[in-house]
Amino acid sequence: MSNGEKDKLGEKLHDVEAARENEWARKRDQELLEKMREAAHDNEAARSRSQASIEKLHNQPAAVCPECKQELVPNTDRSVGGMICPQRHGAWFGWDAVAKIMNDFAHSKK
Ligand SMILES: [Zn+2]
Repeated sequence: MSNGEKDKLGEKLHDVEAARENEWARKRDQELLEKMREAAHDNEAARSRSQASIEKLHNQPAAVCPECKQELVPNTDRSVGGMICPQRHGAWFGWDAVAKIMNDFAHSKK
């Protein structure tokens, strides 16, 4: 085998490797794209879910305080949220807010 033929063979092998890498990169890109599409789809589903729950909330009769039967008002502390009795008899929070409050409380205790 002459040196020229050896070089040609080396070139061919190099081409094959490059083709393999391209194939691998293409597959990986496709998988990434697929994942991004799924994520976008999940976001869309989550958006319509939260939109539905907002509409459900709006269609619900106003929540009233079990103590004084007055309509609950939105908590002015936006960082906590929730609905409170205007007479301060009690409050209604979503579970996530309650969990956050308990978590903050646990961490603020010395
Ligand atoms: Zn009340």
